[in-house]
Amino acid sequence: MNLENNLAFAKAQDAADKLKEFRSQFLFPKHNDKEFIYLCGNSLGLQPKAAKSALEGQLDNWANYAVEGWFDGQAPWMYYHKELKKLMAPIVGALPAEVCPMNTLTVNLHLLMVSFYQPTNKRFKILMEGGAFPSDQYAIESQVRFHGFDPNESIIEVFPREGEELLHTDDIIAKIAENADEIALVLFGGINYYTGQWYDMEKITKAGHSIGAIVGWDLAHAAGNVPVRLHDWEVDFACWCSYKYQNSGPGGISGIFVHQKHFDNKNLNRFAGWWGYQENNRFKMEKGFVPEPGADGWQVSCTQVMPMALYHASLQIFEKAGFIDPLRNKSIALTNYLEFIVKQVNVDLGFEQYKIITPSDSINRGAQLSIIAKEKGKRIFDGLVKKHVLGDWREPDVIRLCPIPLYNSFEDIYQTGQILLALSKNILN
Ligand SMILES: *Cc1c(COP(=O)(O)O)cnc(C)c1O
Repeated sequence: MNLENNLAFAKAQDAADKLKEFRSQFLFPKHNDKEFIYLCGNSLGLQPKAAKSALEGQLDNWANYAVEGWFDGQAPWMYYHKELKKLMAPIVGALPAEVCPMNTLTVNLHLLMVSFYQPTNKRFKILMEGGAFPSDQYAIESQVRFHGFDPNESIIEVFPREGEELLHTDDIIAKIAENADEIALVLFGGINYYTGQWYDMEKITKAGHSIGAIVGWDLAHAAGNVPVRLHDWEVDFACWCSYKYQNSGPGGISGIFVHQKHFDNKNLNRFAGWWGYQENNRFKMEKGFVPEPGADGWQVSCTQVMPMALYHASLQIFEKAGFIDPLRNKSIALTNYLEFIVKQVNVDLGFEQYKIITPSDSINRGAQLSIIAKEKGKRIFDGLVKKHVLGDWREPDVIRLCPIPLYNSFEDIYQTGQILLALSKNILN
């Protein structure tokens, strides 16, 4: 399709958008009574209007039933996570039994590494992306130390080639092959938070398995953003946060995935707690941990009802809108349009002020574009916020903009381009 940098074109795209009514189900931040163009759903998704009543519903249950709420009422808390499992499974291409909402992301990374990183003197290395999100770096480093190994010898990071920003799948696979006898675990982010690069998860998973390693994924920036098929790809484990692309609110509940092939594996270590114990016998309170089958067996503490209520409200919107295809198709169209608009700004300025480092092919990216602002980036970013365009800033020079198919419009993107152009002319002249 020929894209056009004008309001009539953007409005026509919005008019033809089958998902357009979902925008009205979200609350947009305002400043001086003017709504922001919100392009920061990769960091914190917007609040669904349904979130408040979902939370109030659970506050009412607490008020009306108190402790009996665990077993009484319309949706007893004891089984509440099962409702979420059904809705979470399609988001990551899993069976409902393979997923479970619990804890927060970094905590789950640790819990899953306890099970799936079991180094031996020969096979003890972890392969990860260079420049991974810091929490993942710290979690991996501390797990390695916990097992008595030296992070400098045990962690292999794959970096971009000299002068490049992105990883080549071939380089990742070559690193796996080079360390074939020593890698215990391949643990990557599905989409890199900084560049927005979506890695070839299926190929990397296969390569890891071919040398006998376990393969896990941190899907913080992938879950609810791009289609992943964890079950079919035979990924061993994964976890994600739900407050970015899945709009569950700050500090929202995390999700885990454990592949069905591991359900009967008695050799997996766990840091156990009572809520992972066999559901039917949990309240016998007996000695000796017996896990509930499936991902539920990794639960530690009792169900976090309030954050789950928020996540549930958002998952219901995903179900209605249709994940994957309708949302993904719109996401691709919006991101392509944003890419076109940013390039138009360069054309109108007469030089390349904005360099997009995110891959240009939708097979290698989700909704996010990471844009290097070559001159005066921070001033331009601050100017955008003043003009009610909210993206986010990453040192030293990257502006991340992220159009979300549930609540962003083509007009949002057209307007962002207009504001960016005017600001750039002002600040750079
Ligand atoms: C956002 C993000 C986190 C955040 O972890 P929390 O435990 O939720 O604070 C961790 N890892 C990655 C890759 C992220 O993008």
